[in-house]
Amino acid sequence: MQDIEFDRKHIWHPYTSATNPLPVYEVVSADGAEIELADGRRLIEGMSSWWCTIHGYNNPILNKAAMEQLSKMSHIMFGGLTHKPAIELGRKLLEIAPSSMQKIFYADSGSVAVEVALKMAVQYHYAKGNADKHNFVTIRSGYHGDTWNAMSVCDPVTGMHSIFGSSLPIRYFVSAPESKFHGEWFEDDINELKSVIEQNAGNIAALILEPIVQGAGGMRFYHPEYLRLASELCREHDILVIYDEIATGFGRTGKLFAWEWSGVEPDIMCIGKSLTGGYMTLSAVLTTDHIAEMISENYPGAFMHGPTFMGNPLACAVASASVSLLLESEWKSKVDEIEKQMKEDLEPAKVFDTVKEVRVLGAIGVIEMNDPVNMAVLQKRFVEEGIWVRPFGTLIYIMPPFMVITKEQLSKLTRGLIKIISEI
Ligand SMILES: *Cc1c(COP(=O)(O)O)cnc(C)c1O
Repeated sequence: MQDIEFDRKHIWHPYTSATNPLPVYEVVSADGAEIELADGRRLIEGMSSWWCTIHGYNNPILNKAAMEQLSKMSHIMFGGLTHKPAIELGRKLLEIAPSSMQKIFYADSGSVAVEVALKMAVQYHYAKGNADKHNFVTIRSGYHGDTWNAMSVCDPVTGMHSIFGSSLPIRYFVSAPESKFHGEWFEDDINELKSVIEQNAGNIAALILEPIVQGAGGMRFYHPEYLRLASELCREHDILVIYDEIATGFGRTGKLFAWEWSGVEPDIMCIGKSLTGGYMTLSAVLTTDHIAEMISENYPGAFMHGPTFMGNPLACAVASASVSLLLESEWKSKVDEIEKQMKEDLEPAKVFDTVKEVRVLGAIGVIEMNDPVNMAVLQKRFVEEGIWVRPFGTLIYIMPPFMVITKEQLSKLTRGLIKIISEI
């Protein structure tokens, strides 16, 4: 059996049928901002492997960090043991995190980080004697991962809550902010959250949301004022604020972290995805001394979570190298240049009747269509044009590896995009 046939027959791919799947393309290698397919074609990478690969593929500095760590130890348990990679990464994260974040919990993936953050909020209130505060409030159009509780706070429609029905915990949902990032602030935008909080504060442990940019739930950019007012409401009602920065962290929006657009620090923050420069899976949950003390100084005296691969040294070593590489570079001007070029290059898409809106923030460019696109057809066309773009629903978007993509590569990406949208 040919490889691709074996894959088609036996290997499940995300969000497609296992019996009649959408086509997949075999990749043999990737370098910088380019992906090489088994048939020799080269594609310009427009997705950063789902927000991760900020320094591009096969990066010599990240390779070196991985190889050096590999020759020492790739893994060791974190219970009762510690190591330099976890400590060094921790030092770097504290330098760039909100100043109130002083405690770091390493986890294995974004979804697990979200589970950890939610559990932390519940255990905090339990420790404080508020065991009734165990539910969550969130905004619609959010995405927080695919595990059970992460899924429960994803948008109920795009997160397919109907399928998992009553086995899924029921959360409080309010409308996503209507005030756009680049637009004016509508005062009424906060009212729904305000009334839900005022009526249910007694059983709400935390508000969880993606600051400024809602990713896989709708690629929406909303007004920073929402975060400021939402945080104020939460403080008044003893509700913790969890920022899910898994997609937005490490420069993608033009700030190191998206919360910086609002200036309001959270109580708990999740990071992941580009934490390792997209080399492997690793996430972290950051929180305040206050929360850690409340949990640790009350029954049972410890936070009840401890993944097998917690603080994996190989992942921490690469993450450490990735964070340093980012901070030592001109990442901000790179993101600003990409933003400027994408604004200009994607502007022509506005003339098509099929296009609802074109929006750009940092190194994220979104073309929202009026109708859902045919993924199989579009994917094939993108590959024929030499670009890698994977749309979902009505959204065709790009978020290139901003540290390495050249102006010419980005032009090729946006030209291909416009050409194919013109065919729809
Ligand atoms: C991708 C993502 C997650 C889940 O991360 P995984 O590593 O896929 O589990 C959670 N939150 C946000 C905002 C994400 O973009």
